Order: sequence, then C-alpha cells, then structure tokens
Amino acid sequence: SFGEDEGGEDDLERRPPVVTVMGHVDHGKTRLLDSIRSAKVGEAEAGGITQHIGAYQVTSEVDGVDRTLTFIDTPGHEAFTAMRARGAKSTDIAVIVVAADDGVMPQTVEAINHAQAAEVPIVVAVNKIDKESAQPDKIRGQMTEYGLVPEEYGGDTMFVDISAKQGLNIDSLLEAIVLTADASLDLRANPDMDAQGVAIEAHLDRGRGPVATVLIQRGTLRVGDSIVAGDAYGRVRRMVDEHGDDVTEASPSRPVQVIGLTSVCGAGDTLMVVEEDRTARQIADRRNARKRNALAARSRRRISLEDLDSHLKETSQLNLIIKGDNSGTVEALEEALMGIEIDDEVQLRVIDRGVGAVTETNVNLAAASDAVIIGFNVRAEGKATEMANREGVDIRYYSIIYQAIDEIEAALKGMLKPIYEEKQLGQAEIRQLFRSSKVGNIAGCMVLDGIMRRNAKARLIRDGNVVQEEMTITSLRREKDDATEVREGFECGLTVSYSDIRIGDIIETYELVEKPRD
Ligand code: GDP
Repeated sequence: SFGEDEGGEDDLERRPPVVTVMGHVDHGKTRLLDSIRSAKVGEAEAGGITQHIGAYQVTSEVDGVDRTLTFIDTPGHEAFTAMRARGAKSTDIAVIVVAADDGVMPQTVEAINHAQAAEVPIVVAVNKIDKESAQPDKIRGQMTEYGLVPEEYGGDTMFVDISAKQGLNIDSLLEAIVLTADASLDLRANPDMDAQGVAIEAHLDRGRGPVATVLIQRGTLRVGDSIVAGDAYGRVRRMVDEHGDDVTEASPSRPVQVIGLTSVCGAGDTLMVVEEDRTARQIADRRNARKRNALAARSRRRISLEDLDSHLKETSQLNLIIKGDNSGTVEALEEALMGIEIDDEVQLRVIDRGVGAVTETNVNLAAASDAVIIGFNVRAEGKATEMANREGVDIRYYSIIYQAIDEIEAALKGMLKPIYEEKQLGQAEIRQLFRSSKVGNIAGCMVLDGIMRRNAKARLIRDGNVVQEEMTITSLRREKDDATEVREGFECGLTVSYSDIRIGDIIETYELVEKPRD
C-alpha cells in the first residue's frame, strides 16, 4: 500500500532498512551507536572525522552481499515518539538493547510497547556480555514474557549477544537486522519522484541558520528544491552527509543535513518538495495558522464521544491504555472491553495496562500510538494532564465499569457512521464594514477565490491565524439583491454569525462532504 502513490511495481527500488536503537538508560544505546559508527562508517577513509548529524548509514556484508543500513543516531526513543505522535513512520526495525548484567527494566518495557504499537519488528541486542555478571540466558527468559521469543527457543525474534564496549559481535547484530528486515518487510521506494522525508532532528546553527537532519523516505531530494517541513519552508541550499561531505542529491533511506529552511522545523515533521517557493510558503503559513488555532481549541474543548470517533476514523483500530486503582479492576475492565462484539472492520487493542495514576509515560505512549487512556478510579498525576492537552491525548475517567464499556462500545459502533471531510469553497477579504441595527455588522467583501455561499460554514482568518471557527454566512448580497452564491473577482455584502469582524479579515468558506468508504 505504501507503493500505491509511488507508481507501479517497476518504479520501486530496494531501499535500506531504517533502524532505531532503544532501551533502558545506561544499557548501552549510545555506546552501541558509536561502536557501529566507528566500525563501519570508516573514520579513517573519511579523513578522520565523522559528523554527528542524527543519523548515519553503514554497509555490512550479509551472505556475500554488501547491504546498507540506516541508523537513527539519537539514542532513546524521544525522536521515535515524536515522529510516531505526528504519524510519521520513520523506523523499519527497532533494536532493543538490554544490559545482560541488569535485565529488563521499565524503559525496556516501554521501548517494547512503542515498537509493538508501531508494528515495527524487533531485534534484541543483549549487551555488556563482556561483564562477569552477565546473564544472557536470563534476559532471553525475561523477554519471552513480553512476546519476544528467541529463535533458539522456537520463536521468531533474533537475539544477539554483544559488547558495545569491546565491539564484539557487531557484525552479527547487523546481519540479524538485515535478516529480520528481509523476512518481514518489503522495503522499496520510488527514487524518481519529488522527495518526501521526515525530519529526525532540527536546530538553529549559528553559522548556517536552521539545519534539519532529514531521512528521505521516497523520491530524491536535490539541491535547489523548494521544500516545506511542518510550518517551516525554504529551498535546499546545501546538503551534508555523515562524513561532512556536501552531496547534491539524496535517495530513499538516506539521511542528510538540509540547510536552507527559513525557520527550524520540528522533529517528526514531514518534509515535502513542492513546485515553487511561493507554494512552500503558503503551505507553511497555513499550517502555522492551523497549529495555533488547534492548540487553542484543544485547551478549550471537552472531550466527547466524537473525539473517540475520530481516532477510529483514521485507524479503524482503537488503541487503549488502561490504568486502574487495583489489578483486579484493570483485569475486569480489560476482559469486559475485549468482550465487546464488534464488526470485523474495527479492532480494539489494549496496548498497555497498569495500576496507579496516569503518568507522563502513559501519555507518551498514547501519543505515539494514537491511543485513548482509560483511568478507572484513578486520576492523572502532575504534568500528565498538561502533556495530554499538549499532545491531544484523550484521557477518559470512569468509576463504573459498564459506563466505560457502553461508551467504548458506542464509539466502536460509531465507526461505521459516515465520514465527512472538509471541502474548501472560497475566500473573501473584508474591505468595508457597515453597521446595521437589524443584522449587526455587514461586511463588504471581495471574493478572492472560489465562491461565497449563503448558509455555508465559514471561519475567520486574521493575519494568517484562524480567530473564529464554525461561523455561518447568514446573509449574502450582490449589489442590492440577495444572492445564493457570489463568485471570485466580485464584491459582495455578507453577514456572519460572529460579531468581531474587522477590515482585512479573510472569510474562508467550506462544506462538509461525505467521504466514500473504501
Ligand atoms: P545509554 O544510556 O543506553 O546510552 O548507555 P551508554 O551507552 O551511555 O552506556 C552506559 C554505560 O555502560 C557507559 O559507562 C558505557 O561505557 C557502559 N557500557 C556500554 N556498553 C558496554 C559494554 O558492552 N560493556 C561494558 N562493560 N560496559 C558498557
């Protein structure tokens, strides 16, 4: 399905797997990434210096064939989480590092949850086996409890014992990654199209301005391309690879530092090539406005059943995280929820559960996997609520099981209701204002594009920001007559269901049309 809008089978070429290293703090993620980098990027041949650009590629021989792998070089899963939260799938394979002298720890479990929620295959690196206290078999046993059964025990997860410190078995680990990728994924992309990618990291560099490390996902990015990434835009002025060398183009799975954006984009933002600078700027401005408006709206809104619906519309799978005051109720609730009879099209998945308050860790996972959190007789602790508001995560509180069941069931059924999407009608600029005692403010407008339509839904844009949503055009006149529609290039007089309108404001109209189900 990934290949659909990339042309036909013949247009697709094999691309390297993109790998993220995750695991508990101090288990050796940084050391492992360094070790792979220095062993494989070849510091000597590149003149002794490798750049830290947030990702790198290495080549390793597997079954007599040179295979390339891309590593995201930001240890931990913050970047991964940020990207998942924005819906960008940036990783093909997760390497979960577990220290053999320590064992499975909370962040190990979190990493497993993240990877499993994203349906990313896992390779387990059992690290620090140089230590006397290392117990690699114990780690295998522990991981089995999380559904990661080692191949040698008849499962399908590859475990490799390594020492990141001594550079031991790094080649075997790379081989395991390649074999896992080959076994479970069809990694291909069309290099002959406008590039699309994801920003792994971005910052403001004193000399070079905004710099973003971008992982190309499809197409080829070239110097000179007009680009938009989140609400930042610009033109690719320079691209630099992990050796510090300038490159003129970057193909799928290639990480490059991109210089030329006019502002700093966010980690996880999608980068896209567009036809011209002007378009890039317009898209970026629009996103900027939407973002500010969405944030404002989010902090206002009460979470409703409709919000639950929207989770379903996008995924047809409702991910849940259940937190409760004791393990008995959590279990009961999960069982009851799993017992809801639902249509084949819809899936309910409990991706995590636990006893105690809703924590930031829960919210983090929910954001990453578009999950809804259920708090049963518990509340959110400290910053978790704030974070949930910021990330747009729904936390729903219950103290009666059947209420929880009823609501979730209603939401799942609601899934089959029609889906509406917005269709733009047009934009008009307010050029004059008249007061009328009968109808309030009348706006004298010029229709800039599309049409204005009586009774249409509208929003008000001021200085590029949406200042009011869900207005209606309550009356519309062309010269002295009532009109149902007024077209682009004509003046009109209109009233809207909102009183604070000003000269220079833009009225954008739209309608909701039913989206066909596929
Ligand atoms: P991170 O927090 O997961 O990135 O962990 P680090 O890579 O910073 O490693 C934490 C500590 O463990 C450091 O002191 C490393 O030197 C040490 N360490 C990492 N890998 C190994 C290993 O294979 N063997 C031993 N003995 N120590 C290691």
